[in-house]
Amino acid sequence: MSGLRHGLLPSALVPLAAAALSVGMAAPVTVGTPAHRVDCRIVRCVALTFDDGPTQYTAPILNTLQRQHVPATFFLIGPHALHYRTDVLREYRSGDAIGDHTVTHPRLTVLPLARIESEIGTAARQITSVTGQRPRLFRPPFGAWNAKVRMAAGAEDMAMIMWSVTARDWKFHDPLVIEHRVLSLVRPGAIVVLHDRYATTPLAIPHIIRALQARGYHLVTVPQLFGSTKGLRPGVLYRHGP
Ligand SMILES: [Zn+2]
Repeated sequence: MSGLRHGLLPSALVPLAAAALSVGMAAPVTVGTPAHRVDCRIVRCVALTFDDGPTQYTAPILNTLQRQHVPATFFLIGPHALHYRTDVLREYRSGDAIGDHTVTHPRLTVLPLARIESEIGTAARQITSVTGQRPRLFRPPFGAWNAKVRMAAGAEDMAMIMWSVTARDWKFHDPLVIEHRVLSLVRPGAIVVLHDRYATTPLAIPHIIRALQARGYHLVTVPQLFGSTKGLRPGVLYRHGP
């Protein structure tokens, strides 16, 4: 958020710059309809999702979600879940949804079926050892999937959750760019992919949430996004909600 970076941004981003400076200040509490009662076929919903954690950047994101009373969905790397158990339990107990994002974060499409199943199944056991609940959602690393990956997810009883909006926060380490991308690409039913592995992403989240709520969006978990429809089925791929 340096002045230098502001100078490089298009003028459309300037209003966001002022808002981003409020990061860390106490946010006004907006308590709307509880997320589990929201019907996403009728009202505008969006699901924020975070991949690759937990890491040291997960706690600041959880603080923001808690402060702004919204849930999110986290796709965990198995060994990270074992290392950051406290954060996983915080996610679980505060009503966030938890999904599987493999053990070693490989490009699954180049692996044989047995390795794909092992990546998904082992991470599921690692996550379960922390929360006591087996994940029912799976997101393939790099979004790379083929028929084998889908078959393996189905065999592990998991729905494949992709996304309709990417902030590319792995590439743009600037909260203003992350905010602008999410807010310009979001549509009702969107699944937004972010990462709780970069220092810049947590800085973008408070404003993204406030701006989405100002536009009338309900922030929900991925299962809540589909809760009013047929639900999520194992081995089926989902990119956005209703
Ligand atoms: Zn990932």
